[in-house]
Amino acid sequence: MATPNGVPPTSESNRIQIIDENKTFTHDLNGAIKEWGLLDSGFNYDLVAIFGSQSTGKSTLLNRLFGTTFDVMNETERRQTTKGIWMCGAKNMPLMVMDVEGTDGRERGEDQDFERKSALFSLASTEVLLVNMWEHQVGLYHGANMALLKTVFEVNLQLFGKRDATSPRTLLLFVIRDHVGATPLSNLRATLIADLSKIWDSIAKPEGLDHAKLDDYFDMSFVALAHKILRPDQFEEDVLKLRERFFDRSREDYVFKPVYHKRIPADGVAHYMEGIWEQVQSNKDLDLPTQQELLAQFRCDEIAAGALEEFNIQARSFRKPVEGGRIVEELGRTMSTWKQSALTRFDTAASRYHKGVYTRKRADLLAQLNTTLSPLFLGQLKNLHRSALTTFKKDLVDGVRTGGDYDFGTIVQDAGKKAEEFFESGAREAAGLAPLGIKEEEGEEKQPIDAEWSYTDEFEQLKHEMQLVADQCRKDETKKMVNSIEKTFIRQIAEPVEVALSKAKSDMWDTVLKAFRENLEQCEATYLSKAKSFNCNDEENGVSLYIIKKRAWVALRKRIDELTADPVILTKLRDYFEERFRYDEKGVPRVWKPEDDMDGSFQRARDKTLELVHLYAKIAPKDSSLEFSLPPPPTSLPEDDTEYDVAGSMVVLSETKQMDVNARFRRDADAYYLEAKRSIVSSVSQ
Ligand code: GDP
Ligand code: MG
Repeated sequence: MATPNGVPPTSESNRIQIIDENKTFTHDLNGAIKEWGLLDSGFNYDLVAIFGSQSTGKSTLLNRLFGTTFDVMNETERRQTTKGIWMCGAKNMPLMVMDVEGTDGRERGEDQDFERKSALFSLASTEVLLVNMWEHQVGLYHGANMALLKTVFEVNLQLFGKRDATSPRTLLLFVIRDHVGATPLSNLRATLIADLSKIWDSIAKPEGLDHAKLDDYFDMSFVALAHKILRPDQFEEDVLKLRERFFDRSREDYVFKPVYHKRIPADGVAHYMEGIWEQVQSNKDLDLPTQQELLAQFRCDEIAAGALEEFNIQARSFRKPVEGGRIVEELGRTMSTWKQSALTRFDTAASRYHKGVYTRKRADLLAQLNTTLSPLFLGQLKNLHRSALTTFKKDLVDGVRTGGDYDFGTIVQDAGKKAEEFFESGAREAAGLAPLGIKEEEGEEKQPIDAEWSYTDEFEQLKHEMQLVADQCRKDETKKMVNSIEKTFIRQIAEPVEVALSKAKSDMWDTVLKAFRENLEQCEATYLSKAKSFNCNDEENGVSLYIIKKRAWVALRKRIDELTADPVILTKLRDYFEERFRYDEKGVPRVWKPEDDMDGSFQRARDKTLELVHLYAKIAPKDSSLEFSLPPPPTSLPEDDTEYDVAGSMVVLSETKQMDVNARFRRDADAYYLEAKRSIVSSVSQ
């Protein structure tokens, strides 16, 4: 804050020469604005400039008013300060102060080029233009000051000629220095106003602006300051009073009225001024709306780039885990946060610029943000998909592995529901959508991260793959079930067949086939009851039942083969023969006497036994309805269950085999005969 006597303490603010004597624009203005603490002030800053002849105490006044550090001409040396435009941040207020030096080329006999250019430049950004003059210059209509004001008026028309309600105005604040007091300020004011009107009337106005009035563009205010050397105390007092008009917003004569503001956001001031100067320098028409648009484009791009830079670093941190197949927790929420903070950052700064440009650039930024996030979203979907499918497979396997009376259909359904819910809730989170089952109005207001994003395709793909897995699992399970039914059948058929074949009765095969049929029917029933939960279709059931039937028959045949193997059948024949030859009808062992018809008995017993070979040789039931036959094989029969020669399988003992068995039995029978014969001989000879 300024000291009570209005003399500011040494300022920390550094001035900067924004346009040097070679009319080159500085590169450091943005840095300087930042240093003055104004870069982020948006529109909450003001800009004042001072015009006037050389050595009229301009810099001195600015330094007193605002605590700036402009060069003041050394009193003793009377050295000229450098030509150009200087700028400095005011002390303790959001104000940029411009000190325009060398606008008095006229006095120094130089060309008025710089005067005109600096007037254009200043008017394009300044709210308040201080016009500094000695009291004795007032009324000098042909003096340098009036010539300067003529330039200002002309230039202003060029810049703000065509006005509308929103066009900014500028305050011209005349500061009359070394006011002696003999002429009251009101008189000086009247003289100046009269002269200004004359100047205004004299200037050539652009077409359509013939009737434009001076106060359409400018407000005017007048202030007088006492002689600094002769009445230093009064001077200080006057400065202090004037100062209040820049500081105290509550005053009616507060100078920075909103309508004066040129609406250049503080962080765009440097770029804007440079652009203006460039146009002015190259004598191009200075079109402020175009300049504002160009500025908006430049700044919006810069602001977007800044927002994107931070955003990209954030997004990059998730790329590896997502690409590596990880499901990132709360990805959607995090992405939303990144996106929101990038947009907020952009909006805060960029919304101050030209609306059309801002809106366009915002859409560009939004597209870029979404494009960057999209691979993360899609990657997350892929990972959710993979994980859901793995879990689904595992659940199926675990479900059927527990064994027991599981219901395959329920297992598939439960696992499917779980996997789908897992995927969909993850996918919705990643897309920034409300969780499943929560209505929008119930939960917090949820905005999708990108309305274009959809998880439907991935979801459909997942469901399809789950179906394939379920189908495969069902096939495997069906196969296992058929195998287990086959095993049960083998176990159950073993004994009844053995019992039936041990007694060589004429309806022996009927018994065997009846047992076979009963067991098969039981197997088929088991299959059908279990298959219900498998959701197998008729075709699949047809295949399974065919396989069960065929394998059952094969199992039966194997059992029959076991029971009719050479040693087994020979034993059977021997036992049968012995029973008839060595035992009588009452089951008592025969003791052969010479008078017995041993030959006859032998022959009868042998022939009866030989008939058995015939009985065993072919599966031939008396009841033809018991005959086994296979339906035509289904077309989709797996390769390992190919066709089978049913008719051929009815032959138990081939012709050769029968002959062989016959021969071997005869040899055995002969041995019995000889043994019996010998027993008679020995009993006779005793
Ligand atoms: P500028 O060239 O307009 O910026 O003028 P300076 O601020 O450099 O001042 C030029 C000279 O005038 C310096 O020697 C100041 O001390 C002196 N000076 C400053 N203010 C006043 C004033 O109000 N009255 C008089 N008579 N001299 C002043
Ligand atoms: Mg100066």
